[in-house]
Amino acid sequence: MRGIKKNPYPQPSIRRLPSYLRFLRRLRGEGLLKVSCTEIARELDLDSTQVRKDLALTGIVGRPRIGYGLADLILAIEDFLGWDRTSDAFLAGVGNLGRALIGYDNFRQCGLNIAKVFDTDGDKVGSMVFGRRIHRLGEMPALAAKSGVGLGIITVPAAAAQKVADIMAASGIKGIWNFSPVRLELPSRILVENVELVSSFAILSANMRRKRSRGVAAGHST
Ligand code: ATP
Repeated sequence: MRGIKKNPYPQPSIRRLPSYLRFLRRLRGEGLLKVSCTEIARELDLDSTQVRKDLALTGIVGRPRIGYGLADLILAIEDFLGWDRTSDAFLAGVGNLGRALIGYDNFRQCGLNIAKVFDTDGDKVGSMVFGRRIHRLGEMPALAAKSGVGLGIITVPAAAAQKVADIMAASGIKGIWNFSPVRLELPSRILVENVELVSSFAILSANMRRKRSRGVAAGHST
């Protein structure tokens, strides 16, 4: 069975919430106490009705002509996203991508803590990366049983991804952030979010190519 597919929340709205949060935190840093939908919409170049709808997902409603209390709104978004508490994650695959994620400090602002990291390469196991010891993949179930962990991050090559996902599932991990280009087969209780870096780049690349050919057709040199 595949991971759970249905999600009750509109995904584009969820994707916008972090940018609202960044803006709201900035306003709070400037000492402001209130904010309106219109201000958020103007800053982020969005439609204010859309902003109101997105924010309503968090359960908070603005007051006409007054707007939202900044502190309440920030708390509501953080709570909705689950960013008001720390989530420990186990990461498997300490190659270039894995290393970049482990070293990315901004995840702290999302409550994401990459607590333990794993690899199968004998030369890497036992060495340190950004202050964490690299464990053997086989140690994962025992370490998960000891410390409890909800999240798994997969940054291994495609051929190893399913095996790693199975070990994560057996370790009690409930959500997997999958950076490998593989559709994982997992019990439906496990949530999977696939990060398709190459597909994302394909969109930019194809659009640039189309723009270039349009330019050529129109007689422009760029
Ligand atoms: P490097 O050259 O340092 O290995 P890379 O990014 O080119 O980096 P990849 O081939 O993409 O490496 O592999 C990513 C990492 O996943 C490597 O550290 C590799 O040892 C590790 N790896 C491969 N198979 C597994 C597995 N089954 N479990 C955990 N880690 C694995």
